[in-house]
Amino acid sequence: YGPAPESAAEALAWLVDAGDSFGHFIDGAFTAPGAETFESRNPANGNVLALLSQGSAQDVDAAVKAARRAQPKWAALPGHARARYLYALARLVQKHSRLFAVLETLDNGKPIRESRDIDIPLVARHFYYHAGMAQLMEAELPGREPLGVCGQIIPWNFPLLMLAWKIAPALAMGNTVVLKPAEYTSLTALLFAQICQEAGLPKGVVNIVTGDGRTGEAIVSHPDIDKIAFTGSTEVGRRIREATAGSGKALTLELGGKSPYIVFDDADLDSAVEGLVDAIWFNQGQVCCAGSRLLVQEGIAERFYEKLKARMDGLRVGDPLDKCIDVGAIVDPVQLQTITRLVDDNAGEGEIHRAAGPLPENGCFYPPTLITGLHPASPLMQEEIFGPVLASTTFRTPAEAVALANNTRYGLAASVWTENVNLALDIAPKLVAGVVWVNGTNMFDAAAGFGGVRESGYGREGGWEGLSAYTKPAGKAKALNPIAP
Ligand code: NAD
Repeated sequence: YGPAPESAAEALAWLVDAGDSFGHFIDGAFTAPGAETFESRNPANGNVLALLSQGSAQDVDAAVKAARRAQPKWAALPGHARARYLYALARLVQKHSRLFAVLETLDNGKPIRESRDIDIPLVARHFYYHAGMAQLMEAELPGREPLGVCGQIIPWNFPLLMLAWKIAPALAMGNTVVLKPAEYTSLTALLFAQICQEAGLPKGVVNIVTGDGRTGEAIVSHPDIDKIAFTGSTEVGRRIREATAGSGKALTLELGGKSPYIVFDDADLDSAVEGLVDAIWFNQGQVCCAGSRLLVQEGIAERFYEKLKARMDGLRVGDPLDKCIDVGAIVDPVQLQTITRLVDDNAGEGEIHRAAGPLPENGCFYPPTLITGLHPASPLMQEEIFGPVLASTTFRTPAEAVALANNTRYGLAASVWTENVNLALDIAPKLVAGVVWVNGTNMFDAAAGFGGVRESGYGREGGWEGLSAYTKPAGKAKALNPIAP
């Protein structure tokens, strides 16, 4: 495919130059497009961006074999040598950041402001952090060794960032990978494959096979894979858990959520409103830890809802490539249908407010929506909508807030808003969630473990926990580090 272009304007040209059809990235090279292909579309206008190959069991097997061949040499490199490659990948992500951002926005529909200022910088940060950690492994994780070949399956909501969350720690610890991006959003993964070539990464260390759930199943059931790392829906996570049970494969699952956003009557209401814009309208609400259940203390509820509605009415929905847009396109017509159906079938009892701004006539768009007065058992309060829809009810006492917050099968994140530090410190540990933010939301860092409890999955990504999840005790040696499992 030649060297990756350097300017955003070349993003589409790059696709066209590449011939519109893509194969997989196996053993350091792109394969010819496969017999079965599928379209990757721009959800903002329905245009076809590229034809991608549906990875077969043979493609997966070729990728696993390449990863297996490459793994012993990769693991034998001293940590600082692996770090050099990870630093190179980080720098190349930065060098091509405009291209990555435009491609991500075209493919996924997220506002360019978000892909440019959030997704892509976090990707670079993830590779920088794990480059540093690769050098520390021998000293900080003594008695640990890599797992081997890791199969990694990721969703479409943060395509390149989820790739970074998977690939960076695996490589840092001496593993090699076979990664499958989501079928709707594989383009930045293919561009990433190009920068693996540009970085001179040894062939077979990173392999990328595109395709839908069938390709995912071929990865999950492949006998020569040591670990499956999956991010996606709880339903598919459950199936993967069943399929890997007894196989000896290590498994981490990052699944869905229905995270509570609790506003107490002494909160700074303007900040809490601004936090909500981030919690539920960032990435069109297609965020696993989205603050999608708003719990407001009764005394301030009316005032808070009025402020929130006024703010919602100022949100601009439209062309994701427009830098002034707040809310972009939903990833795909099927997802748009799911959101529409969930809301239409269940909003009856509640009061609905949709942002006043106009919607584009074409493309997959859904307005920022608030539904108040919902019963805690309403499907809108219980099901992950994965769209720009905020479901809300009120509470009277802190104890009631905790009970409502924990009334869910999920446990990924929670947000608490109060000016009373004692109240915050009392409430936070009572919330059943992998992370609790106080007077904030959506705070991520490569150094902090992220993951859920209950049906939000298990295992952590990021930080020490994320790193140790890509290692095992060396031979029979015992782990010396107390945080290692
Ligand atoms: P999904 O489960 O439908 O798909 C995720 C990935 O799994 C895709 O690559 C898909 O092709 C693949 N897949 C589908 N069926 C498979 C099978 N039977 N075997 C193996 N792989 C299969 O999820 P999605 O709709 O792409 O993503 C949205 C979901 O991801 C939401 O539930 C969201 O909460 C979750 N998510 C969680 C986190 C987290 O860190 N906890 C982060 C992002 C997204």
